[in-house]
Amino acid sequence: MTPLLDLPSTHAASLSWRGLPAAQQPEWPDPAGLEAAVATLTASLPLVVPRECDLLKARLAAVARGEAFLVQGGDCAESLDATDAGSLLRTAGTLQQLATVFGYMMSLPVVTVARMAGQYAKPRSAATELRDGVELPAYRGDAVNGQAFTAAARTPDPHRMVRVHQHSAATLNLIRAYCGSAQASPAHAVEGLRRFADAAPERARYAPLTEDIARAGGFTGTGDGWHTPGELFMSHEGLLLDYESALTRVDAVTGTPYATSGHLLWIGERTRRADGAHVEFFSRIGNPVAVKTGPSVTGDELLRLIDRLSPDDEPGRLTLVARMGARRVREVLPRLVERVAAEGRTVGWVCDPMHGNTVTAPSGHKTRRFDDILDELSGFFEVLTGLGAHPGGVHLELTGDDVTECLGGGAGITPPDLPLRYRSACDPRLNGHQSLDLAYRLLELREA
Ligand code: PEP
Ligand code: MN
Repeated sequence: MTPLLDLPSTHAASLSWRGLPAAQQPEWPDPAGLEAAVATLTASLPLVVPRECDLLKARLAAVARGEAFLVQGGDCAESLDATDAGSLLRTAGTLQQLATVFGYMMSLPVVTVARMAGQYAKPRSAATELRDGVELPAYRGDAVNGQAFTAAARTPDPHRMVRVHQHSAATLNLIRAYCGSAQASPAHAVEGLRRFADAAPERARYAPLTEDIARAGGFTGTGDGWHTPGELFMSHEGLLLDYESALTRVDAVTGTPYATSGHLLWIGERTRRADGAHVEFFSRIGNPVAVKTGPSVTGDELLRLIDRLSPDDEPGRLTLVARMGARRVREVLPRLVERVAAEGRTVGWVCDPMHGNTVTAPSGHKTRRFDDILDELSGFFEVLTGLGAHPGGVHLELTGDDVTECLGGGAGITPPDLPLRYRSACDPRLNGHQSLDLAYRLLELREA
């Protein structure tokens, strides 16, 4: 029998990226501190095991073949101070509710992936931040430094990576408990949808829609049980290569190294150069991986990334996350989808309608308009469906909490509302209500 766990730590995947250009890495102030943190992580327990990563890869293979739909979402940046279990469970619940709506909309099984238990490192557009004549290192996520605008908080501290591993383990422990509970049942998700629909300004439209969803059984699909709401995978941007490589372990049975910090890791828009360190590291791990791409990507660049990350064209290995912006998606995406199809490559196409639609409100808050998010998502569906390709999923920044970070939606958050409950450490998230509103509005548009 295959052992579940025999995972000696590795150095093959850990080393080959070193010496290549590694964008967005912190300037750790003290090499000894970094060495100590890496040594601690190298000797730490894995958070996930290869078997789970392979299962997710099989699920994502169905997405790539057009036989399943991906719902991925969570915080832009998790916080080491987040100790409210209810908040984590509300986000998990929102993902399950979204999965229920999208499963009904697509008549397909859904694979659900959280941005959780590892999403602590952020790429930044500038290395420093200037306030009132004071210049300090930019906040790079709780894995690197603190948000407070003081020299002490902003100095990168490698020991934070050890705390991230510990906090991720505690988060994952809670989520695993949730997944085994009745709270993760389809019935519970449908109850949540009913509560949402009953309280929504669009109640007259949403309540009957919810009953249609409930009658369909919440989840539709093949009935082989794999799309049960109790199955929730963990993902994050694999940004900090010292952290990721220290947590890489070789599966002793197959000899394949896996990143054991999460099931699915992605490469962000700012670190996706094909000859860079991130792509090199990702090319060595057995996990399913994703790449975010903005409107500047060329077809050749995309093909090069596909060659590097999925040389064997294994379905489920590579998911492409398009984040083009509402204004560009219909213009830019078609040629990319066509090019990948013309080359006969098997990838999942997913839409992140958040990162191409970020604006600054008069109050200075980073925000996004619900209508832009919906528009990009509609555009994505139009483009993929129009080309006979599969709109494979959504990648959202969201929380189950009642935050006021994005504008609009049925409950109508307006610019003066933003300061009321703006809690994100980085980008603005849809709140629980706005997240479901988005899914219902898209469902209505597709049924129209
Ligand atoms: C993110 O997902 O938070 C992010 C930084 O995205 P992107 O790399 O697409 O800008
Ligand atoms: Mn973000």
